[in-house]
Amino acid sequence: MLIHNVRLVTWGLTNEILDGRAVYLDKGKIAEIGGEARLLKKYARAERLDGGGQLLMPGNICAHTHFYSAFARGLAIPGRPPRDFPDILRKLWWPLDKSLTLDDVRASAEVSLVDAIRHGTTTLIDHHASPNAIDGSLDVIAEAVDRAGLRAVLCYEVTDRDGPVRARAGIRENVRFLKRAGRTLAGGRVAGLFGLHASLTLSDQTLQECRAAAPDGTGFHIHVAEHEADEYDSLTKSGMRVVDRLEKHGILGPRTITAHGIHTDIREAELLSQTRTWVTHQPRSNMNNGVGVAPIESLLRAGVRVGLGNDGFSNAMWEEWKTAYLLHKVWHRDPRRMPCDLLVEMAVYNNAALAGQSFPGAPLGVLVPGAHADLILVDYRPTTTLTSGNLPWHILFGFHESMVTATIVAGRILMQDRQLLTLDEEEITRRARSLVPEVWHRYAGFVPSDN
Ligand SMILES: [Zn+2]
Repeated sequence: MLIHNVRLVTWGLTNEILDGRAVYLDKGKIAEIGGEARLLKKYARAERLDGGGQLLMPGNICAHTHFYSAFARGLAIPGRPPRDFPDILRKLWWPLDKSLTLDDVRASAEVSLVDAIRHGTTTLIDHHASPNAIDGSLDVIAEAVDRAGLRAVLCYEVTDRDGPVRARAGIRENVRFLKRAGRTLAGGRVAGLFGLHASLTLSDQTLQECRAAAPDGTGFHIHVAEHEADEYDSLTKSGMRVVDRLEKHGILGPRTITAHGIHTDIREAELLSQTRTWVTHQPRSNMNNGVGVAPIESLLRAGVRVGLGNDGFSNAMWEEWKTAYLLHKVWHRDPRRMPCDLLVEMAVYNNAALAGQSFPGAPLGVLVPGAHADLILVDYRPTTTLTSGNLPWHILFGFHESMVTATIVAGRILMQDRQLLTLDEEEITRRARSLVPEVWHRYAGFVPSDN
């Protein structure tokens, strides 16, 4: 397919904005970028996509999300409002994830995938929980991702909070899925990690079992120090802080993702840096949960690799850029904090490197020949000068995800002129709304009463 009549944003190591070029896609990759007139002649018989003068850029990547959280929209938490994050887990997330059947897991994932295609997020790293429907849950999500045409990295969060039988089932689900995942699953668009909930719901024995069960070279995906409670629980259980404890159990490493890292100390940052472990930042979620602000600038200065996720908020990643940009300024009462280059480092380059580890064989998140053809068209008509250098400020102050008109993954068009081509949004919405009353009813039965 030849895409023409576009302005290219490459997100190469030195970002470029290129006019008068066309892009030829073949076998899921970007095969050639060249002068528009020349390529129109060279590929005269190829299928064409006229970009109508829009920006053509790499799709956005989300480094940490939860497809299973979609049914929480509008859900009323009974009793007094949760007073802190552990209370939010007990009163919202744990009773909600218990309420999900495999049908709900599928429907919740589909709702999230529609949202991702609409908002130009082409790769998502998901962290799944459904303690009453564990076996096969990752297959159900993988099938939904395959149908959607997106790219995703999946895992099941192992936890002791529902007893040893379900902890073992979680381990089995990861191991089984990791054997299936790889180059062949969904044409190589679905990969796996080994999921762990958080140190505060994992015993030493379960951590050991996870380490022993994880295939060689597999990374883990775990929440770390999202709230002080995680650190104090770890100190009580093991005499060690969370990151030290995970290091002892062999969980850290260059393929492991630790989400949040808000309450880590300097030594923990050092360990994350030395082991090249990833940290992901989710400012909208952190603000919503009132859990504090991760010291992202310090972590980056300490050499920690930090990416940007959404933790189940909308798959509108520029919203997450904007929130990070604003949050760190107000937190420090200093408009110089969280400068744009750090945002680009996290959201563009680090996210591409992180997600790219799961999809080797071609670069991801960059518009160069040979890269995975994951692209979006953005109908942004700048009213001021737009250059490769000032693009990040246009994104912060001018872009909106509703400007995404086309989403392409592995060379296949998933949305064109804002019409979804792979998923039936009306049917997905209808199904989700028909399932939600039962989910909310079960949820109400699982919520612990106030005391
Ligand atoms: Zn999370």
